[in-house]
Amino acid sequence: QRSSAALASTATSYPTTHEKITAVEDTPYFINNKFVNSTTDQFIDLHDPATNNLVTRVPQMTNDEMKAAVASAEKAYESWRNTTVLSRQQIMFRFVHLIRENWDRLAASITLEQGKTFADARGDVLRGLQVAEAAVGAPELLKGEVLEVSKDMETRTYRESLGVVAAICPFNFPAMIPLWCIPIATVTGNTLILKPSERDPGAAMILAELVQKAGFPEGVVNIIHGAHRAVDFILDEPAIKAISFVGGNKAGEYIFSRGSANGKRVQANLGAKNHAAVLPDANKNHFINSVVGAAFGAAGQRCMALSTLVMVGETKEWLSEVAERAKALKVDGGFEDGADVGPVISPQSKERIESLIATAEKEGATILLDGRGFTPSKYPNGNWVGPTIISNVTTDMTCYKEEIFGPVLVCLNVETLDDAIDLINKNEYGNGTAIFTKSGATAETFRKNIEAGQVGINVPIPVPLPMFSFTGNKKSVAGGGASTFYGKPGVSFYTQLKTVTAHWQSADAVAKKASVHMPTMQ
Ligand code: NAD
Repeated sequence: QRSSAALASTATSYPTTHEKITAVEDTPYFINNKFVNSTTDQFIDLHDPATNNLVTRVPQMTNDEMKAAVASAEKAYESWRNTTVLSRQQIMFRFVHLIRENWDRLAASITLEQGKTFADARGDVLRGLQVAEAAVGAPELLKGEVLEVSKDMETRTYRESLGVVAAICPFNFPAMIPLWCIPIATVTGNTLILKPSERDPGAAMILAELVQKAGFPEGVVNIIHGAHRAVDFILDEPAIKAISFVGGNKAGEYIFSRGSANGKRVQANLGAKNHAAVLPDANKNHFINSVVGAAFGAAGQRCMALSTLVMVGETKEWLSEVAERAKALKVDGGFEDGADVGPVISPQSKERIESLIATAEKEGATILLDGRGFTPSKYPNGNWVGPTIISNVTTDMTCYKEEIFGPVLVCLNVETLDDAIDLINKNEYGNGTAIFTKSGATAETFRKNIEAGQVGINVPIPVPLPMFSFTGNKKSVAGGGASTFYGKPGVSFYTQLKTVTAHWQSADAVAKKASVHMPTMQ
């Protein structure tokens, strides 16, 4: 056991530059409220995306270590399940307070490991914090129902915890996605094994420290590390009753099928291709700011990024102004003042994005704004792709069909609102969409006929706040989206309903003949 790099810094001391770290420490795992170094000899090097300097090494934990984490969660469950929801709520209040206190420190870890700008990383933390804040409402959310269903007979429901549950997280929201899971899984009485992305586990490790400080008992939250093998371990471990996954389609579809085949509940949010439709009556200035922010913010590495623009009628004339404003964004290290767009996560990701841009050109599209080859002078070794706009795109092109997950906006032209709806609905993904118009009737037609699960009306990234739920649709969710994250459905996912029907007067029953027919209404 030892203190981690995360523990060495405090709420007021954390990295604020991309300077090379001289004494690189390995990322520990978290078990029984302690940080422990893995004994493995297999590590994944984690580089700062702005410099490609080594930040830490993430262990691919051994099976025995992962088994010990599950045993710790199983043991903790025995007593945690019997705590009152009011006592769990008190811990959640402290957790919320600690996240707020460590807000900048969490954001700094995200900027260093994931690359997004510090201001944007603060938003990543806030969106997760809000889930924890909503989770303090658990006493209300866990209430059952009761009804007198017949003479002297009543039916009651209880929401009971499941046991040990697991979360498998993506790289793009290192604080928000772990916080979609930790608060709701635990406040409902479960214990949790969380596997952060092996590409940026730092924020999750700070959250682990806050878990410890908030007073969660040992073993209620354990954090393991690794890649595919750790995922397979989670999928096949009988003690794990439910899995929350957020990430790409390849991993998610595999996790959903293998996890479900092993009898577990699985909720899985997957990839996206979110379209914005712009109508000629829209507020042009608001539209341009919205689309530029939502296409290029976080270097396009958001599952709700607006990566596809559908321009109705003459709005195609506005594209040069979109390009002008996109060009004015400052691409720079995430700690730099005024940085708008940080690097993409890895050299491989940069290469993939650039090759999709090249393919678009080959397939006949126009590269209206080309972000390839741009490098901020201070960061020659980072994974940079500047804002890129591809116009004259058609639905058969690779850049339209694939999720690019970079700062690239692909633009298509249509003549009418109906054409826009038709085009958007033909896309396999259905995470989110947005329409820009001043007409209520147009917005209402769009809202009613569009298949995407999250719709913005003059709102570019309509991610629902945690009193609602994250309701992607179609190929953006596995299993038809039956289990969604946070809000009331999130509480349902992490609990099992028990329905009890009681007939107290039967204690005095006198009839001597058993009744064998299904009871009829009385
Ligand atoms: P990813 O699928 O590569 O990784 C996610 C997790 O799965 C990681 O913990 C990783 O270790 C594991 N993993 C990756 N490949 C695996 C495999 N073949 N077998 C088993 N496990 C595997 O995703 P990412 O690149 O980290 O994140 C980006 C993706 O996540 C994008 O597609 C984005 O749209 C999606 N995403 C979706 C949402 C949403 O709510 N719909 C939110 C955030 C991100």
